[in-house]
Amino acid sequence: MALVLNGAPAAEALTAGLAPRVRALRERGVTPTLVILRVGAQEESRAYERAAKRACTAAGVESFTVELPESAQMDAVLHAVRSINAEPGVHGALLLRPMPFARTERAACRVLAPEKDVDGVTPASLAAVFAGEAGAFAPCTARAVLELMDYYGIDPAGKRVAVVGRSLVVGRPLAMLLTARDATVTLCHSRTRDLPGVCRGADIVVAAAGHAGLLGADCFAPGQTVIDVGTNATPEGLRGDVDFAAAQGVAAAVSPVPGGVGRVTNAVLALHTIEAAERLSKN
Ligand code: NAD
Repeated sequence: MALVLNGAPAAEALTAGLAPRVRALRERGVTPTLVILRVGAQEESRAYERAAKRACTAAGVESFTVELPESAQMDAVLHAVRSINAEPGVHGALLLRPMPFARTERAACRVLAPEKDVDGVTPASLAAVFAGEAGAFAPCTARAVLELMDYYGIDPAGKRVAVVGRSLVVGRPLAMLLTARDATVTLCHSRTRDLPGVCRGADIVVAAAGHAGLLGADCFAPGQTVIDVGTNATPEGLRGDVDFAAAQGVAAAVSPVPGGVGRVTNAVLALHTIEAAERLSKN
């Protein structure tokens, strides 16, 4: 049976390590603060928002929501983002996505101040991640995959890693982070030929495609680590992209959904907000 890579202990260890940094900030009169911008009231966004706030509270980070109606036009959304940029008491901003209008979402990501971009959505943050700059804010989920692997002592250096999914939220930035950690990365997507064969040939498989149970028994090999980023609402509840039972029967280690990467993602959001507060309060 494969080792189950639970996210909770990794998130708890990460959060515990933040306490002295939060204390040092508070002693200087700085309360690390995250603002969550939500347009509309989609239940998935609200659930993510609640989880993010819980993780912030656990880490000693203040958080509050700016809520705009579903019908909010581009001007109103950009005005809210600019107000966040200008507010000295706010160190990090999480723009909940998807927003009702894709064009507005893209514009909001461009307008957000990179120094407050704790979820790595701005072109400047992504460019810094791609250039391998130290201190770049990567999308929290991408960094969470590495934090989870680090916690369980899984070193990607020199390993063949198949990343399934090439979105800018997970797959592509993760491929860059893994490359910076000396992995040999194959970035797979919906047009990849023989996906099971590519996955079987990897030492580490990361699934981030958004299709419940996409990776089945034919995708896994003995000794592998399988990290499941997928979170798919199904009639049976939340499911990952990996057939968990199949992976557990073949691989050496597999992360569950729920209870895997998602838990760590929220802890990384708190970590990034603290990093932003440290940098902004030095100026
Ligand atoms: P997306 O739809 O933007 O991108 C999906 C990617 O998967 C695309 O690059 C596509 O080419 C690829 N893909 C789709 N079908 C495929 C197939 N059959 N074979 C191979 N590749 C395929 O999705 P996203 O925003 O990157 O999210 C991916 C998944 O990760 C979703 O389930 C999402 O809910 C989840 N997610 C989880 C967290 C977390 O913290 N746990 C955070 C963000 C996203």
